[in-house]
Amino acid sequence: MATIEELTNFCKRKGFIYPSGEIYGGLAGFWDYGHLGSELKNNIKAQWWKHHVHKREDIVGIDGAIITNPKVWEASGHVENFTDIAVICTKCKHKFKVDKQELEKAKCEKCNGKIESKGVFNPMFTTQVGPIQDDSTLAYLRPETAQLIFTNFKLVQENARLKLPFGIAQIGKAFRNEIAPRNFIFRVRELEQMEIEYFIDPTKKSECPYEIEDIEIKILSNKMKEPKKMKISQALKNNIIKLKWHAYWLSSSLNWFKSLGANIENFRIRQHLKEEKSHYSTDTWDLEYNFPFGWKELQGIADRGTYDLEQHEKHSKKDLKIMDEQLDKKILPMVVAEPSFGVERALLVFMNEAHTIDKKGNTILKLSPKLAPVKVSILPLIKKDKNLIKTAREIFKNLQEEWNVTYDESGSIGRRYARNDEIGTPYAITIDFDSLTNSDATIRNRDDGKQKRIPIKNIRDTIRKLINQEIEFENI
Ligand code: ATP
Repeated sequence: MATIEELTNFCKRKGFIYPSGEIYGGLAGFWDYGHLGSELKNNIKAQWWKHHVHKREDIVGIDGAIITNPKVWEASGHVENFTDIAVICTKCKHKFKVDKQELEKAKCEKCNGKIESKGVFNPMFTTQVGPIQDDSTLAYLRPETAQLIFTNFKLVQENARLKLPFGIAQIGKAFRNEIAPRNFIFRVRELEQMEIEYFIDPTKKSECPYEIEDIEIKILSNKMKEPKKMKISQALKNNIIKLKWHAYWLSSSLNWFKSLGANIENFRIRQHLKEEKSHYSTDTWDLEYNFPFGWKELQGIADRGTYDLEQHEKHSKKDLKIMDEQLDKKILPMVVAEPSFGVERALLVFMNEAHTIDKKGNTILKLSPKLAPVKVSILPLIKKDKNLIKTAREIFKNLQEEWNVTYDESGSIGRRYARNDEIGTPYAITIDFDSLTNSDATIRNRDDGKQKRIPIKNIRDTIRKLINQEIEFENI
């Protein structure tokens, strides 16, 4: 496994992610995405949206504003309760944040030294809305996307004619003035979240109509000392996971990662301790990943009850109840699950999983073809032959209609393969002199270097089937 420093350097060297404004020394907790990084990030978001919105009938999406009426954050409790405690080590001067319940017990995470509190901070960034100081309003950059789902809840439900149970999804930027941004893109100050609020009738908490896509996983409940491997369905049966809804969402998230090539051995689910849970939540499970710096939260799945909608009803004095057709009355739904996670942490997982070094010491980035920033590279065998170039460029133009593909004629063919392996391009198409007489070309598979000849007219279809995992490379 690569270290986090190696991944950081690799991402910079290959054009995935750079420290933001690096020519001026960067700014802690802010990162810029290069041409490959932005493609990868877009692909992760598109796959998430496809899985959770387009492929379902019960979830629709929104895109809320980053800055909204500051009353939203008063109602949600963020102005008053969204706080971190900054501490400093009296020995090595390392600064980091701790939770309230940890303060008494905590030691320096670096040197185990004694820590000292530097005070309580609200990590919301503030700004002024309106150009003239006297008339302007103090506002916040949203610290999470979720609240915009709650404030728009009723309109979205009416417009999309949603019936309980249903979900509203959102992908968007959020900002947190973290005390100690670190571990590359794991803890940043400008992040992007992918969140779902899933609403149900509160009297039907135990009625989840969906099948659990079962999966075996390490489970750590708040009663266990060591994680235990078991099927999610088994954990539900044994009452370790109490709600089928939670089992359902945990398995759905895990299966999303698995379908995109992640090794489930590197994941576990952990139940929040009583003192860790938000006051509104009756149960919270974290999906954790074994990052190069240890097991850390990747995604939280909380049960938020009716807390948020109630708060917004109270503060806005608007009725947010909706008609429950089965009960034939208006009700305020509860959020049974809030699968919420950061795009950055997902990207770090996929990058960590994909980064491999072969026997010769070359990097091969084994990203799922669905996520790979470049799907195919078109390589004419030599760059001096007009006919080869013409055919290669025709194929290139054709594939460009569907994906981000590259055309590369510089350097030896081996060098060009290696360059593509390193950035995770799953397939390469080589055009040689036989291609001109036989109308076929060589397709090469990144992960094992195997090659096959296929008719030029079939290239686009074949690649589509490979990306969609409808055929194996061996069977084309
Ligand atoms: P942590 O305890 O790691 O600070 P949190 O419990 O405050 O996270 P939530 O408020 O539950 O996080 O946010 C939901 C998700 O958003 C997290 O699981 C994580 O994937 C992502 N996230 C939160 N804060 C950050 C951050 N500073 N940088 C990157 N991702 C973040």
